[in-house]
Amino acid sequence: MERVADLHTHTRHSDGLYEPRDLVDRAAAAGISILCISDHDNLAASREMRAHARSLGILLVAGTELSCQHRGVDVHVLAYGVDVDDPALETRLASFRRTRDTRGEMMVERLRELGYPVSIERVRQIAGSGALGRPHVARALIEIGAVDTMDAAFDKFLGQGRPAFVDKQRFRIDEVVALVRDAGGVSSIAHPTLYPNHRALVNELLDAGIDGIETRHPDVDAANRDFYERLARDRGLLVTGGSDDHGNGGPKSIGSILVPESLIVGLLERIDM
Ligand code: AMP
Ligand code: ZN
Ligand code: FE
Ligand code: FE
Repeated sequence: MERVADLHTHTRHSDGLYEPRDLVDRAAAAGISILCISDHDNLAASREMRAHARSLGILLVAGTELSCQHRGVDVHVLAYGVDVDDPALETRLASFRRTRDTRGEMMVERLRELGYPVSIERVRQIAGSGALGRPHVARALIEIGAVDTMDAAFDKFLGQGRPAFVDKQRFRIDEVVALVRDAGGVSSIAHPTLYPNHRALVNELLDAGIDGIETRHPDVDAANRDFYERLARDRGLLVTGGSDDHGNGGPKSIGSILVPESLIVGLLERIDM
């Protein structure tokens, strides 16, 4: 039987709910043989889970998801097969994690001014060792009863243009292309359909040196999947895919996207696995 992959997941090292070990166990239970834990701005799970994944017969691809700014659009780029101890990459990731913490303080301050008594200590506790993000603030808002759901927290407070929205530091595309390549990895455009005017945008990102497109993702419908897989083939580029599991359940859950190994042989060859 052909092996299957999930190359897009999150753990408590970013804004997912599962411990890395839990996530790897769930992947094994879902029949996944090739896994990437792509925490935002964080390679810790890729470092920590190598041996455990191997013991379950899972090939763990090192990776992380990076937020970039391209002509005013927030574009997410997945990095695969990077050296998890690359000093230049780790320095940049650590700096992004620090600015995320300061941004967390600013979001909490705005919420308190609006009359919602969220505490930064609690938000940090929820984030644990993870790269602090809006989902952690959203969970704190649910805890104090300000909203009932994560979606409501984003709609009412944390989404772009909402009163507690604070922007975060982002990479430039050319920086990410070079940084990932110099760390021995390849890059892929995450969930391409989530960006405005995405077909034109994706071509620009590929022209800038991104190596592939995430064609298999819960937010990519069949027509766009086929379109982008043809585009990748025509341009001689890679395709990647994954569930984007954050532990919240719903369509973005491990097992919802099973990428056949035959689709990602190009990637596996490029990252020397
Ligand atoms: P940040 O990186 O701190 O800006 O947070 C962005 C993250 O928030 C994304 O990666 C998603 O995981 C999550 N997110 C964005 N919108 C929503 C939403 N409406 N409901 C739940 N989570 C969301
Ligand atoms: Zn996330
Ligand atoms: Fe993303
Ligand atoms: Fe993601």
